[in-house]
Amino acid sequence: MGDLTDPIYDLIIVGGGPAGATAALYAGRQGLKTLLLEKAQFPRDKICGDALSGKAVTVLRDLGLLEKVRGLPGAFIRSVTFGSPDHTETNIPFSRSSRQDFLTGFVIRRQVFDHFLFEEARQAADACVEGFTVRDLLVEGGQVVGVQGVGGDGEVTYRGRIVLGADGFNSIVARKAGLYRHEPGHWVVALRCYYQNVGRLTDQIELHFVDEALPGYFWIFPLEDGCANVGIGMRHDYLKRRGVDLKGALQAVIQSPHFRDRFAGAKALEEPVGWNLPLGSKRRKLCGDGFLLLGDAAGLIDPFTGEGIGNAMYSARLAVETACEAGAAGDFSEAALAGYDRRVWETLGDELKVSFRMQQLGRLRFLLNFVIRKAAQKQAIGDVICGMMADEIPKKKLMNPFFYLKLLFA
Ligand SMILES: Cc1cc2nc3c(=O)[nH]c(=O)nc-3n(C[C@H](O)[C@H](O)[C@H](O)COP(=O)(O)OP(=O)(O)OC[C@H]3O[C@@H](n4cnc5c(N)ncnc54)[C@H](O)[C@@H]3O)c2cc1C
Repeated sequence: MGDLTDPIYDLIIVGGGPAGATAALYAGRQGLKTLLLEKAQFPRDKICGDALSGKAVTVLRDLGLLEKVRGLPGAFIRSVTFGSPDHTETNIPFSRSSRQDFLTGFVIRRQVFDHFLFEEARQAADACVEGFTVRDLLVEGGQVVGVQGVGGDGEVTYRGRIVLGADGFNSIVARKAGLYRHEPGHWVVALRCYYQNVGRLTDQIELHFVDEALPGYFWIFPLEDGCANVGIGMRHDYLKRRGVDLKGALQAVIQSPHFRDRFAGAKALEEPVGWNLPLGSKRRKLCGDGFLLLGDAAGLIDPFTGEGIGNAMYSARLAVETACEAGAAGDFSEAALAGYDRRVWETLGDELKVSFRMQQLGRLRFLLNFVIRKAAQKQAIGDVICGMMADEIPKKKLMNPFFYLKLLFA
C-alpha cells in the first residue's frame, strides 16, 4: 500500500463521465469536500450514440450549463423517427410535447461533451486527479472508507466518508463491493461507427428496428459537418444464442435495399467499435456501507431506447442528496445510505419497467410492424411516445395495459 494521503474527503468520486462529473457539480453546490478520480486523460472517447435528450437536458438546465452545451459542436435534434422491421417509418416531432424545455435535444460526440462536463466538474471539486486508476476499496470494519489506486505519483490511498462508484460498466467499485453481476439478459452489446456524407440527414434521430438486430435496433444520429453516428445494438443473450456477428449485421443493414442509397456516397471514419450497455431492466442493490453506485456502474440504462446519460446524471443528483443527509446525520452505514436505492427507484423505476416491457414486446416482429404502422397513421400514438420521452404522462397510466389497448384499437 502506498502513502496514506492527509485530507478526508466527504466524497470520493470514482470516474469522471456524465455520472461522476454531475455528482462533482452537485457536490460543489452543497459545499461538500470532493475528490474526483478519473483513469483516462480528457479529452477521451466513450463509445456511445452521443444523443442527449429529456433528462440529460433537464439536469444541464438545472446546473446552468445548457446554454454552454448549445455552443458545443454537434447537432440540434427536434424529432425522432422509428422504423419497423417492414420499414414503415413514423416521425415524431418533439414540438408535440407540451413541455417547452423538451423541444430540442442534442447529438454531441462524447469526446466533446464529456470533456466539457469534466472541466466544469474539475472547477467544482476540491481536488481532481486524471490518469488515476482506482484498483481497490479501502475497507475498515466492513465500512468502505476510501480507495486505493495508481496514478502519476505511483500508488496512492485516499480516504473519504462516502465513495461514489461512477466508473461505468466494468465498475471496480461494484466489483470490489461484490455487487457486479454478469447478466446477459439485462445487458446490450452495441457497435458505433462515425460516418461522413450519409444521405438525408436532418434534425432527427433515427431508430430502426431491423430484423438483423431484434431485440435491438440500428441507429443513425446526425452530427456536425455532415457526419453521423451510426450503430447497431442487441441484447447480449440473444446475440450469443443466435451467434450474431454484430459487425457483419451492421454491414448487412447498411448494404440492404432500404439503406444502401443513403450510404452510397458515405465514408466510414473508423472501424466499428463496441461496448456494453448495462440495462436498468432489473432492480439492483445500489449501495452498501460507505459507498453508492451511479450511472452505468449501477446499471441504469433505459432498456428500450438505450439512453443512459440522463439516468446517470439523475442518479448523481440523488446520490449527492443522499450524501448530504448522511453527512448531517454523521452516519455513512448502508442503513443510512439506503435512501439512495429508494430515491433512484422512485424516480426512475416505473419508467424503466415500462421500457423493459416495450423491449420485451420489441422481440415480436409483427407487433413492432403493427405499432409503428399505427403510429404513422394515428397522431395520438405519436403524442403518447413523445409524452413518454418528455416524461409528462403519469407513470401509473403507462403501467396499465388497457391504456395501450385503447390507444391502439380505439
Ligand atoms: C454503443 C453505445 C451507444 C449508446 N448511446 C447512447 C445515447 O445515444 N444516449 C445515451 O444517453 N446513452 C447512450 N449510451 C449509454 C451511455 O453511454 C452510458 O449510459 C453513459 O456513458 C453512462 O455514464 P457513466 O458516467 O455512468 O459512465 P461512463 O460514461 O462509462 O464513465 C465512466 C468513467 O469512469 C472512468 N473509470 C472507469 N474505471 C475507472 C477506475 N478504475 N478508476 C478511475 N476511473 C475509472 C472511465 O474512464 C470513464 O471516464 C450508449 C452506450 C453504448 C455502449
